[in-house]
Amino acid sequence: MITPMIELLRAAKEGGYAVPAPNIFSLCNMETIFEVAHELKTPLIMGVPGSRDLEAVGYLGKFYEKRYPDAKIAINLDHGGPFEQIITAIHAGFSSVMIDRSSEDFETNIRESAEIVKIAHAVGITVEAELGHVGKADEDTDDERMANLTNKDQAQEFVDRTGVDCLAVAVGTSHGAYKNFNPYIDFQLLGELSELLTIPLVLHGGSGTGDENLSKAVKAGIQKVNIATDLNYAGTDGMTAWLEANKPGLSKKRSDIPGAEKAMKAAYKEMLIHYVGVFGSEGKA
Ligand SMILES: [Zn+2]
Repeated sequence: MITPMIELLRAAKEGGYAVPAPNIFSLCNMETIFEVAHELKTPLIMGVPGSRDLEAVGYLGKFYEKRYPDAKIAINLDHGGPFEQIITAIHAGFSSVMIDRSSEDFETNIRESAEIVKIAHAVGITVEAELGHVGKADEDTDDERMANLTNKDQAQEFVDRTGVDCLAVAVGTSHGAYKNFNPYIDFQLLGELSELLTIPLVLHGGSGTGDENLSKAVKAGIQKVNIATDLNYAGTDGMTAWLEANKPGLSKKRSDIPGAEKAMKAAYKEMLIHYVGVFGSEGKA
């Protein structure tokens, strides 16, 4: 069942685990997310970038909800950008939206996040916002990363004035593949934020951070971990390996998109199942 994200996160906070939030890179990843939720009885949060066809995601979500009625899934707009995009996601049937104004100043972040909260809450949809800024592991310098960590003195005020349901915090992880610096989590800051705030906390940039760091972050108070790059790499590697192994056959047969897609889906699924184990969410739906 497509479920408001806050329900999944509250249960995770109570149960001491985190809900995996896999990004989709293709609409066929949606089927895999429903399958894994059904097979492992794990709650999952589907992370949908604004660049996907949000209306198509909404329709397909309803279709897979019928096929897997026991799957507990939140469909979340990841890093929601323009106002119109966020409203489109709400209209399309998403059960949560993230508004990301983490690159703006504090007051703009509060004002624009609060505006989305007012609209989304009116129709029962969860809102995630970001305070501090989780940057890019292959673009930022280490100094930039550390300068953008969440300011704990602003956190309570941000939550009170916006009314957000959950908060993405910048505690050292970064998006993408780590190139310019090593993965790192400021566990002291995370612990302080978790003690200070009663709402669930979200970790972006989970890929490449290491299972041990991530499971420690879950114990320190994270209830949702976004995983994108590791799934993208796994799926691409799975498809590449399949193509290399099947090239001689392909030249006779000319083409086999279903075969390549199947290999991609299997590798994506295997990586997602791995993270369900790391975050302890199996059997919690
Ligand atoms: Zn992110």
